[in-house]
Amino acid sequence: MDVGGGPGGRPSEATGDESAGPKTWLGTEPVRGEGRSSETLPPLLQHLPGVFTGTVQSLVNWARSNSIWYMTFGIACCAIEMMATGGPKYDFDRFGMIPRGSPRQSDLMIVAGTVTEKMAPRIKQLYDQMSEPRWVLAMGGCASNGGPYHQGYNVVDGVDKIVPVDIYVPGCPPRPEALLHGILLLQEKILRLSVKAGTAELPGAQTAVSAGRRPD
Ligand code: SF4
Repeated sequence: MDVGGGPGGRPSEATGDESAGPKTWLGTEPVRGEGRSSETLPPLLQHLPGVFTGTVQSLVNWARSNSIWYMTFGIACCAIEMMATGGPKYDFDRFGMIPRGSPRQSDLMIVAGTVTEKMAPRIKQLYDQMSEPRWVLAMGGCASNGGPYHQGYNVVDGVDKIVPVDIYVPGCPPRPEALLHGILLLQEKILRLSVKAGTAELPGAQTAVSAGRRPD
């Protein structure tokens, strides 16, 4: 094994220790395959050093977090901002966010608007038609807790009264940047999901999206 030159062509200095590697700017590097037990290395890494390995779970979570298909539906003024986010200026598509016309093909329900008592059963039905894993983002004050219509006679004070909410995005209406931030938080959450347990989260997942707590 050639250990005569370090990075940048610097020659290694004699140390008297044969297992010591070339001198670098950060110190002495161990010689590859020496200075540590080869029994601790998986067989693949012994023959292919530098190969990155991962788990099926992280691969699936990475794919899911970068292909969140959201349902095309809006129920009030917040939906205008959601549409703007999908337009060319903010370009939802660059995050893999593709609008779908059917709940059966959708991963994400963005509740963009005021949830009235009349609309609530329809939203619940759409949610039930989505396949697992599925997520819900409450966009704006109305969807989060009723907003300006809080405790109104015909308004549901938060869509979490009828479906579980993963991310809350405050504002009246939230700007597209806020919605994009909510999507980034959702991606973080998806990256911490357990594939084996379906939508069950790994420990610590909730703290990662603490910004998604329901506003009082
Ligand atoms: S939060 Fe404001 S902008 Fe959004 S639906 Fe309610 S009233 Fe409209």
